[in-house]
Amino acid sequence: DLPPPSAPRFDPHALPPLREVIARFGLDAKKSLGQNFLLDLNLTGRIARSAGPMASVTAIEVGPGPGGLTRALLATDATRVIAIERDRRFIEALQDVVDAAQGRLSIVEADALTVDPETLAPAPRAIVANLPYNVATPLLLGWLARIEAYVSLTLMFQKEVADRLVAQPGSKAYGRLSVITQWRADARVLFNLPPRAFTPPPKVDSTIVHLTARAAPEAAEWRVMERVTAAAFGQRRKMLRQSLKSLGNAEALLEEVGIAPTARAEEVDVAGFAALARAVQAREDAAPAQTHQAP
Ligand code: SAM
Repeated sequence: DLPPPSAPRFDPHALPPLREVIARFGLDAKKSLGQNFLLDLNLTGRIARSAGPMASVTAIEVGPGPGGLTRALLATDATRVIAIERDRRFIEALQDVVDAAQGRLSIVEADALTVDPETLAPAPRAIVANLPYNVATPLLLGWLARIEAYVSLTLMFQKEVADRLVAQPGSKAYGRLSVITQWRADARVLFNLPPRAFTPPPKVDSTIVHLTARAAPEAAEWRVMERVTAAAFGQRRKMLRQSLKSLGNAEALLEEVGIAPTARAEEVDVAGFAALARAVQAREDAAPAQTHQAP
């Protein structure tokens, strides 16, 4: 006989509706903490499923809030869900979900900017979050620096930020964030959500982006890559021979890596920036030797 189809591990609809939870605990949204909630469990289910296969994966969520996405993550095959929340009011409100999850959900009360998710969960781990928009970019940069430690990142951003993550050279949205993101990750836009999908509605459209580690990222040091892209895009209208002056002999650097000195930052692709970062690094590695040269 075939075994019976296994029952879902966790039914997101078995708990009280999210609007009731919000009313019962008086969880008015705080703008300062980027609180825009998703109360439609069909929608949070769609986001959780868009993260990809979760069997044997620990899902890490930043900002569970009232728990709509948390419930949806518990309904996947994820081994465990670890949710990091800064606003203490939600810790009590999430207790019903913790109980219903039978040991699969832990809540960590902390500022996600100060937490290294790798210390909370063993590999394989994935991050899935409807991010607080005021700290979305610094959170992403922190995770990108170690993206090989994650199966995937599935993240809600304001659409304008998502556009920058996937922007190609030559476009207006192409900048530092595009270069750093695409250097480390394959980033894919999954779908957009209008303001009315959230309570309260934010002023902007939102976008879910799926990121996975790039198989063979161009060699370069993170910190040098940050400096080179900051210099180049800090004066994005200027030619690189001008904007890269702070890095040393810009003309020689550009010639060495085969980029026209008259090019502007937005014309240079990820491989070009990585080559620049390697050239800057090589000069700096060589510099101490020069200072010891006999006069
Ligand atoms: N996941 C919930 C949902 O989809 O309805 C809430 C998403 S809401 C956009 C962002 C959540 O992140 C809020 O619950 C907020 O309190 C929390 N948050 C804001 N800043 C945070 C931080 N620095 N660390 C951890 N959580 C934070």
